[in-house]
Amino acid sequence: MSILVFIEESNGGPVPVGLEILTKVRAQGDVAVAYAGTGGEAVWAALGSHGATSVHHIPTDAGKLAPGAVAKAVASIIESTSPDAVLVGGTYDGRDVAGWLSALTGMSVLANATGLAFDGGLVVTNEVFGGTQLVESTFDGTGIVLVRPKAFAAEAGDGGAPAVSVVDLPDIGHAGSAAVTGSHVEESEGPKLEEANVVVAGGRGIGEAEKFALVEELAGLLGGATGATRAIVDAGWVPYAKQVGQTGKTVKPDVYIALGISGAMQHLVGMKDAGTIIAVNKDEEAPIFSVADLGVVGDVHQVVPKLIEALKAR
Ligand SMILES: Cc1cc2nc3c(=O)[nH]c(=O)nc-3n(C[C@H](O)[C@H](O)[C@H](O)COP(=O)(O)OP(=O)(O)OC[C@H]3O[C@@H](n4cnc5c(N)ncnc54)[C@H](O)[C@@H]3O)c2cc1C
Repeated sequence: MSILVFIEESNGGPVPVGLEILTKVRAQGDVAVAYAGTGGEAVWAALGSHGATSVHHIPTDAGKLAPGAVAKAVASIIESTSPDAVLVGGTYDGRDVAGWLSALTGMSVLANATGLAFDGGLVVTNEVFGGTQLVESTFDGTGIVLVRPKAFAAEAGDGGAPAVSVVDLPDIGHAGSAAVTGSHVEESEGPKLEEANVVVAGGRGIGEAEKFALVEELAGLLGGATGATRAIVDAGWVPYAKQVGQTGKTVKPDVYIALGISGAMQHLVGMKDAGTIIAVNKDEEAPIFSVADLGVVGDVHQVVPKLIEALKAR
């Protein structure tokens, strides 16, 4: 089976979900990558070790990906190589490119895939209804799959250097006149939410915006990142970048500590695959306890300061 994986550059390297997809599909043999970014030897080596056998390099300026032109370049790669499947990481840029690509090629898109199987053809698993149901789908012909970040683990294998060819960005006329003029990385301290081994997340049960300091202090002591529910993002207590869940980030840390979070399905889909889930909630019936490995029925304002005190005393 021949597979084309679209991967864009972020912070000087392939976006993590790109390497996750490559790890998942590399056993299928012929895995080509359409790579948008500056690229370079270290990038090609990373793509090769994760499973890419060839790379079509679409040179773009860092942080200024033009989705329309990039999608047209990818469409030309699809036309010349006729892959059996096209896989794209579900990042902001990836989703943008997949939409353009679908419009340009007429190929269908299956979004938010959490599973890929190769049973004669490609079988895609999606979670629907807030993750309560799983749907398996196949395409008639070649389709585009948007893969959810953290659905698979990225692991370098023993793949060698891939063959690299350059595909120039085509001119797409007026459609390309909307340009990204710049991008910036949001400043934050500590590990990134998506990559942290420990995530401490707060929900409406923490009471007020100022009390998020408790969440931050606990995360800091554990060397972790902070996360949040949509309820407190919508309330303006913390920025959207911290939102975990269906319309936020998917995280898979070793430890997830949920403080004052009810455990709505839309939140659970973003964190239920964490290694160990610890929840503090004053309502013993709160749904978060259905996924928790360790649950504390209590008031966060009493439990968390004690936890912080105990950690500081170590
Ligand atoms: C289309 C759609 C997409 C959504 N996407 C997301 C998403 O990506 N992420 C997300 O999180 N939500 C999402 N939501 C919202 C979701 O349905 C819930 O409304 C939200 O997760 C609830 O947040 P919460 O747990 O902070 O608040 P609540 O549901 O209000 O829960 C607060 C909890 O705190 C507990 N509590 C109160 N006081 C204390 C205390 N002193 N000590 C301990 N516990 C206390 C309560 O018992 C309660 O269980 C989405 C909803 C929709 C419709």
